[in-house]
Amino acid sequence: MSEISVKEYVRRQEELEDEANEMMPYDPSHCTYSMGAIRQPIFACRTCNSIGVCYSCSIQCHSTCDLVELFDKRNFSCDCGTEKQCDNGSEFKPCNIRKNTTQDIADMGNRYGQNFKGLFCSCHTEYDPNTTVTMLQCVLGLECNEDWYHDHCILGIEKNPDTSTGDRKPPGFPDLSSFDGFISWVCIDKYSSIFEKLLSHERSDKIVAHKVYRKLPSNQNDLTSDCDIAKKRRLEEAEDSSGSYSLFLKEGYREEFKQLRDDLPEGDPIKSFLTHTAPFLTHDEKVYEPPKEEEQGSLLELGEHALAKSLSHQQTLASLVAFQQIKSKLTDFLRPFAENDTVVSESDIKNFFDTQKK
Ligand SMILES: [Zn+2]
Ligand SMILES: [Zn+2]
Ligand SMILES: [Zn+2]
Ligand SMILES: [Zn+2]
Repeated sequence: MSEISVKEYVRRQEELEDEANEMMPYDPSHCTYSMGAIRQPIFACRTCNSIGVCYSCSIQCHSTCDLVELFDKRNFSCDCGTEKQCDNGSEFKPCNIRKNTTQDIADMGNRYGQNFKGLFCSCHTEYDPNTTVTMLQCVLGLECNEDWYHDHCILGIEKNPDTSTGDRKPPGFPDLSSFDGFISWVCIDKYSSIFEKLLSHERSDKIVAHKVYRKLPSNQNDLTSDCDIAKKRRLEEAEDSSGSYSLFLKEGYREEFKQLRDDLPEGDPIKSFLTHTAPFLTHDEKVYEPPKEEEQGSLLELGEHALAKSLSHQQTLASLVAFQQIKSKLTDFLRPFAENDTVVSESDIKNFFDTQKK
């Protein structure tokens, strides 16, 4: 059949649009640079000096770049079109959204961990989208820059090579349903005296679901550093472990942290830590969400193309840019057909696309 009614066409497009919105639910037309340092989804651009850009810039300004999705980062300002983007000597590129004519000032407060090079976890590897291994983001993140960790790396063991068994959780790893937050051993080592005090506090059992030691890698059995006395002491306590541990936090831990902070006397180190060092642990952290995509005209073949499940995020972005640019034109083209409820033939649609290519 070479003809479909506009209604049928629109129905099919709406289905596609719903799917598209699930994948790319946001309207990519606002750069967050002017909002300053906020918690927001960040994409690292390995083509542009490993800067971090906001959701909209990942689509509008870096769709052809080598992007790595980092998910939420705290206190981060979009780097697109700033001096940070060119501080490796590359040519000035404005932000396509802000249309700045000179380099904007970069936020000196932005912090760049290994994630910005596309590397994750203590094993420093790239994210494998096909992995079945659980990865957890550190909710403290002060030392590890909110890094993500493989479950087996949290335990300090090799990845189980046998994936044939249904149970993918490595032995000794807590059930995912039994906790709501994770603090990496990297961050705990940095603030070990605070966490020792927290764990010996009578209310720690309301906050901490699991304390999980990290096994000692066999080639690092000797802790020789003199300044590592605390670590040695913990090592004696926990046979066969590096002395480092991660904490898994109970549901509602933020409210518990807040109450603990409020109840502790002035000058208490835990209170001071929760007030000044990691105040974000005591309340739900607001994450900036770009505005939702307004419902607009019909999707078109480009959108359909972008939806193919096999496409990478990056290819999807590239297609969606083209899609955004062409979408309103197709809506205008289809309006007379829709108003008269007349049929639109495939050749009409094809003609439309042919004129767009010219
Ligand atoms: Zn931006
Ligand atoms: Zn780029
Ligand atoms: Zn931009
Ligand atoms: Zn790892």
